[in-house]
Amino acid sequence: MKTINEQGYTFQEWLSPEQIAKDVQQVADRISEDYKGKEPLFVVVLNGAFVFASDLLRALKGIHCDVTFTRVSSYSGMASTGTLDVIVPLQKSVKQRDVIIVEDIVDSGLTVNRLKAELQALEANSIRVATMLFKPNKLERKDAKPDYIGHEITDDFVIGYGLDFDGYARNLPAIYKIKK
Ligand code: 5GP
Repeated sequence: MKTINEQGYTFQEWLSPEQIAKDVQQVADRISEDYKGKEPLFVVVLNGAFVFASDLLRALKGIHCDVTFTRVSSYSGMASTGTLDVIVPLQKSVKQRDVIIVEDIVDSGLTVNRLKAELQALEANSIRVATMLFKPNKLERKDAKPDYIGHEITDDFVIGYGLDFDGYARNLPAIYKIKK
């Protein structure tokens, strides 16, 4: 099992790049099927989701789509602060659009809930959530359960494939779990 060191902590590989590619394709296939004939607007949640979004959007089949970005921050180090610090306002109108929020990971669900409320207020036609990772045990709000999930995960802290540890490790092609 491959391990790496990041800021004094040991992490071990949990999802290989090959497994990630399979997970992403499975999500892309379901979205391609569900949005046939529609023109969804993907709202990518920066910073973490940029890697997943780039693979996901290129794996869609026959979908004419649009993409925009937003930013919400609730994490410091390895723990959620519980409050959402920054929101970069959307640069595109979501009114009457079929929106798919793209997340790297859904943990408490606060970020997704907050964004859903924003998008509802802006009169989106429909709102769904696609996430690479989902921590079901940590979900605080049932209505934040993602519609499309790459892989479910236990409560461990993970890095790589867009997910950071205080800004670092986003560029790792695999996903690593902290070693206890
Ligand atoms: P939530 O609002 O669902 O609690 O958290 C969502 C955000 O927290 C994610 O977009 C991600 O940035 C961050 N996050 C949650 N769990 C982890 C984790 O295990 N590792 C990293 N690096 N970030 C996480």
